[in-house]
Amino acid sequence: MMNKKTDLNMQFSDEEWEKLCDHCGICCLYKIEDYHTAEYLYTRIACPFLDIESGNCKSYLERFQKMPTCAKISADTLEISYIWMPRHCAYRCLYEKRPLPQWHPLFDPEDKLANAQLLSKITALVIPENHIDICSKEQLLSLRESAIQMNTRKKMEKQLIDHVIRDLII
Ligand code: SF4
Ligand code: SF4
Repeated sequence: MMNKKTDLNMQFSDEEWEKLCDHCGICCLYKIEDYHTAEYLYTRIACPFLDIESGNCKSYLERFQKMPTCAKISADTLEISYIWMPRHCAYRCLYEKRPLPQWHPLFDPEDKLANAQLLSKITALVIPENHIDICSKEQLLSLRESAIQMNTRKKMEKQLIDHVIRDLII
């Protein structure tokens, strides 16, 4: 039997893998790990390279050089990283074998035909009943709109703690 990592590695080309991202930008918000509970909390503080309007990285091709803490999301790293990705994220959905949210761009009627092959690969990997409540696209957009960029003049830890997202929708 194949493991999750092998499943994903074998299924998607690089181009398809990139298309799984809906550009919510949520994974580019700083997070805090509770040392005692190992729980991850999101904050509203965004990486300086996140374009808050589009949800895209302003330095995508050079992101690992410019931001040493930027993490690569690949089938090989998901085993470690899925836990701090938002629950709606297609990479986490696939890792947990859950269907993608219905508002994911791959379901856009205009692109649906072009994405049919990719959608059928995804469908083959997920368990239809294995779903949990996922926030709406509007909630995610509103979260991104409320994000603020790190203020380098203030203490980083204080900014993160002041901006923890307590009503966790992700
Ligand atoms: S959380 Fe997932 S869908 Fe959102 S930007 Fe990050 S990788 Fe893309
Ligand atoms: S450098 Fe990494 S964490 Fe920062 S915006 Fe780009 S992809 Fe996101």
